[in-house]
Amino acid sequence: MPEGSRQLAMVFDLNKCIGCQTCAVACKMLWTRDEGSDYQWWCTVNTVPGKGSPKDWESMGGGYENGELILGKAPDREDFGGGWDFNYNEVFYGEGPPGKKIPLRVVGEQPTWGPNWDEDQGGGQYPNNYYYYLPRTCNHCSKPACVDACPSGALKKRQEDGIVVRDESVCTGSRQCAAACPYKKIYFNEQRGVSQQCMFCLPRLEDGVAPACARQCPGRAVFVGFLDDKDGPVHKLVNEWKVAVAQHPEYGTEPNIFYVPPIGPHPIAEDGSVDENRHRIPDELLEEQFGPDVHEALATLQTEMSKTREGGKSELMDMLIAYKWTSLLGEFTVDPVTLEKDVS
Ligand code: SF4
Ligand code: SF4
Repeated sequence: MPEGSRQLAMVFDLNKCIGCQTCAVACKMLWTRDEGSDYQWWCTVNTVPGKGSPKDWESMGGGYENGELILGKAPDREDFGGGWDFNYNEVFYGEGPPGKKIPLRVVGEQPTWGPNWDEDQGGGQYPNNYYYYLPRTCNHCSKPACVDACPSGALKKRQEDGIVVRDESVCTGSRQCAAACPYKKIYFNEQRGVSQQCMFCLPRLEDGVAPACARQCPGRAVFVGFLDDKDGPVHKLVNEWKVAVAQHPEYGTEPNIFYVPPIGPHPIAEDGSVDENRHRIPDELLEEQFGPDVHEALATLQTEMSKTREGGKSELMDMLIAYKWTSLLGEFTVDPVTLEKDVS
């Protein structure tokens, strides 16, 4: 990182994420309601194992291999499931038959995929089924392949906070950024002929308000802050306790969204007893998702959990529980309703 630059980051605690989709909807309500962005969900929450969003994104390529930029597939609208049309006019504006209750339903072509299509399917065999929820946004990578690939200079990584931003007046819609992003977190707006992605709720941050996904999370699962803020939870979880790890570090872009990995339940043995020495979520799956550092992260979490169960104190457990919810938000604790401009 160049001298004098800073990096904002987020940590999602996957042991607290309840898959409620509030983060996804909070983001949707703010940023992607116009024509052309109707199918875009900059924050998605998928069930793992599963095909994710866009469908099968992990096989689409991108990122770096041996330091070389790789161009993979630029996902299209259909890969994300398209934008669905609903019978809003009948349900909400009285255009249906009078006196009849009309359920909300998709109209027109019936979808065969969507942003959360395989929710809760997961893997494993009964009674040892398993899954966890995985919220994903743009990772505001330290080595952003999207910036590297953009032929028109529309994308920039800001020095003051590390956020990757796009100048839509410069974007030519070549979609090279989407081909290069290995996380497939860039969407194409056909109406405007530009690509679009999460910008960390920059207009909110400028007023001291946390990103909508973090602030609205009812599970208290999302931490925000600068990685070099030694008093902040993000720095402590990532750099000190090392219990928060990035997804697919092998993609080579150095992501800045981190995850406290899921511990999950223990498996049930054939005689009905609980096998407390093993986890239902396979270690191989977690290593494939989060790299080899995930094992040390899980071991630390287990040790600290055991400490509290035996009546001891754990700074780490207290931090993860977040008794005071504003402790999740670093320096971005301003309540948006107190502002004159609308960033809520
Ligand atoms: S709002 Fe929080 S708990 Fe709900 S899906 Fe998002 S991260 Fe998980
Ligand atoms: S996640 Fe993708 S779009 Fe976001 S900064 Fe990294 S490479 Fe770029």
